[in-house]
Amino acid sequence: MRLLLIEDNLELANGLVHSLAQSSYVMDVVHTARAALIACATMSYQLVILDLGLPDMDGLNLLRRLRQQGMITPVLILTARDELQDRIHGLDAGGDDYLSKPFELGELEARIRALLRRGCPANPILSFGGINFDTLSRQATIDGMTLDLTARELAVLELLLQRPGRIVSKRQLMESIYENADDTNLTVIEVFVSRLRRKLEDAHAGVGIRALRGLGYRLEQSSHE
Ligand code: CA
Repeated sequence: MRLLLIEDNLELANGLVHSLAQSSYVMDVVHTARAALIACATMSYQLVILDLGLPDMDGLNLLRRLRQQGMITPVLILTARDELQDRIHGLDAGGDDYLSKPFELGELEARIRALLRRGCPANPILSFGGINFDTLSRQATIDGMTLDLTARELAVLELLLQRPGRIVSKRQLMESIYENADDTNLTVIEVFVSRLRRKLEDAHAGVGIRALRGLGYRLEQSSHE
């Protein structure tokens, strides 16, 4: 799950990114509306968290602009403004939910889960071979046993499970786990994939990750002969 946080208060932004990353969300953060427009044009997010008070554009104008550009991602508005009129304007501008500052982290996380559930009304469980992956609770299980995976391994597994039997490129995997995919060498993906592959083998998942030279990876049912 890749989330975009648009928040110009660096302290708050860093704190939220840190906390939400622990819940296994991949977080991108931008501090201006300008950067948000670029981020939303180049990356697809499952959720956008938007602070209304931005230095270069009012958050509501930014939101209207994103909606006009066809962005359908759910948007959770964060703001110090707490008047009913402000909430109404926020929802009218295309916001899906509204949280007033200051807020408790637990409430933010609950709102995020609720919006993500709404955003994917289909089955939140991805299944392949013996693996069940709950995309909301961020848990992968095999025969009811939870796999002990890191956030990045979970992100790799999630993307592979979304495209079972199809090739997923290293670049796509990279974008699902790193904030700045360009800055990191693609070979680190090999490290995550091989760790994940070993854990799946150890857990007798009945699923293997095949490397296709120069192309990427594909999730396949393991054959035991
Ligand atoms: Ca602000």
